[in-house]
Amino acid sequence: MKTSRRFFLKATATGMGSAALAELGAAEAGATQSDPIKKWDYEAAVVVLGIGAAGLMTAITAHDQGADVLILEKAPEAHAGGNTRVCGQGYWCPSDSDKAVEYQNAMSDGYPIPDDVTKAFHERSIHVTEWLTKMGADMSTMKTAGEYPDFPGGAGNVCWSKLGNGWQRLWLLLMENAVKKRKIRVQYETPAVELIRDVKTGEVRGVVAENKGKKIYVKAKKAVALCTGGFENNQEMIRDYLGMPYAYPKGSPYNTGDGIRMAMAIGADLWHMDNQAGPDFNFRIPGKDWAFGYNFSPPGNGWIWIAKDATRFTNETYFTKHGKIPFHGIYVPVPTPLPVHCVFDEAMRKSGPLYPANYFFCWWSQIEKYNWSADNMAEIEKGWIVKADTLKDLAAKMGKDPNALEKTVSAWNKACVDNNDSEFGRDSKKMAAIQTPPFYAAEFVPAFTNTQGGPRRNSKCQVLDTNRKPIPRLYSGGELGALYSWHYQGGGNILECIVFGSIAGERTAAEKPWI
Ligand SMILES: Cc1cc2nc3c(=O)[nH]c(=O)nc-3n(C[C@H](O)[C@H](O)[C@H](O)COP(=O)(O)OP(=O)(O)OC[C@H]3O[C@@H](n4cnc5c(N)ncnc54)[C@H](O)[C@@H]3O)c2cc1C
Repeated sequence: MKTSRRFFLKATATGMGSAALAELGAAEAGATQSDPIKKWDYEAAVVVLGIGAAGLMTAITAHDQGADVLILEKAPEAHAGGNTRVCGQGYWCPSDSDKAVEYQNAMSDGYPIPDDVTKAFHERSIHVTEWLTKMGADMSTMKTAGEYPDFPGGAGNVCWSKLGNGWQRLWLLLMENAVKKRKIRVQYETPAVELIRDVKTGEVRGVVAENKGKKIYVKAKKAVALCTGGFENNQEMIRDYLGMPYAYPKGSPYNTGDGIRMAMAIGADLWHMDNQAGPDFNFRIPGKDWAFGYNFSPPGNGWIWIAKDATRFTNETYFTKHGKIPFHGIYVPVPTPLPVHCVFDEAMRKSGPLYPANYFFCWWSQIEKYNWSADNMAEIEKGWIVKADTLKDLAAKMGKDPNALEKTVSAWNKACVDNNDSEFGRDSKKMAAIQTPPFYAAEFVPAFTNTQGGPRRNSKCQVLDTNRKPIPRLYSGGELGALYSWHYQGGGNILECIVFGSIAGERTAAEKPWI
């Protein structure tokens, strides 16, 4: 199909940044980019990017409102589903919307988000269990204290819903509803790379994607919904936005911030880019772009984390609030004095595997299916864990100060004898001396659950530009620009995917087709 010459590709995701675009002005920037589109390879009323919870919920809702939907997914089918597929599958399910708004506002304190957005969220959040039940979910609901029970609205209004037994369940439920029941089309291994915009009206008309090295042009007659997740596996963005030299996902390595860059390239404003659910420290197989997880809790207690200067820097067993720890009356992310190593001794090695077999969530277990050896020997033989007869030799192997390591371990061992970690307050039941040679060290990296930043959205899920005006026909959902501006309630991301997916689905379907 031929199209008018005014549909141009507007700024490549890898090329021109928003600052350059702003200088050029929209029309000029569009006109300077690429060729006009001569042929659309695919078309749909609503094009959804990404097949996690946000994308699936958007697709299901838009379909049920009568729209023809196409999902483009970057990963092959066996790896698709993003963080949603490998997550804990639980969601925060508030029962009182006023209290939920109060709690949400308390979590956003200091980094407020617009009232209408919070209200839109919790008008629907109380119905999510009902919707999922209608879709066929078998759920158990546990009432829990909120992650911040001392915050207003935080006590007693936080439930944690789980879908029956079995892992990947929420994702499989949504997949079943989208793909099997509704026959929504999905193109796997087709990452979107650019948004196509009408240079004159500024409307988003479709996307450029890639498949097997070939560019394909996908027309969206009503709208595009960006649901491509966060930037958990984009080291440059991690450095630029999260203030860490490196970090790795416990979830999908396919989340490389593509949607953020595509939106930036056409002038979207960003929010919450410095917020993350993380970090904590976990092992990473050298060369892999994902890390082990979840909270590190091996069977033995004779281990510590040491910083670049070979000293301890935190209570290693503190159950963080999704990576945040209390600090002089506020919460801050766990510090990352990299490189960090986990140091332990022979007694600890013999006590059991650093990571349990067949863990029930995370990428390494659900997708890669890595089974850690019961005695840690396979990982030592592979050289992932270094071994030495003395602490000084171990320090040399890590490239750290031998005297400092000896001093650190000796202070730790004394704290174990005293049953008192006066420095960081580690629970005495989780302490054991590091004294039986040989000694071991494994490099641990900051590993996170997910990032929260992305394009700023309004209560209708429209992506906003830097003047806070909606970019016509561009919507978003999920952790790509999530509402969590600093504190995060566990289960809140999936809740947001379902709620804002439902809004994005309704709104995209309600757009009038441009053609
Ligand atoms: C180990 C772990 C446990 C967690 N547990 C929970 C929990 O129990 N409860 C909770 O609320 N939250 C949890 N979270 C967070 C939650 O899983 C995510 O925030 C949520 O699933 C994000 O959903 P999403 O749809 O926005 O993105 P995702 O589920 O990450 O999906 C994004 C999709 O977009 C695809 N994609 C990426 N780039 C492109 C592109 N260019 N073109 C097309 N497709 C693209 C990806 O391949 C992926 O399939 C957990 C996360 C992890 C990693």
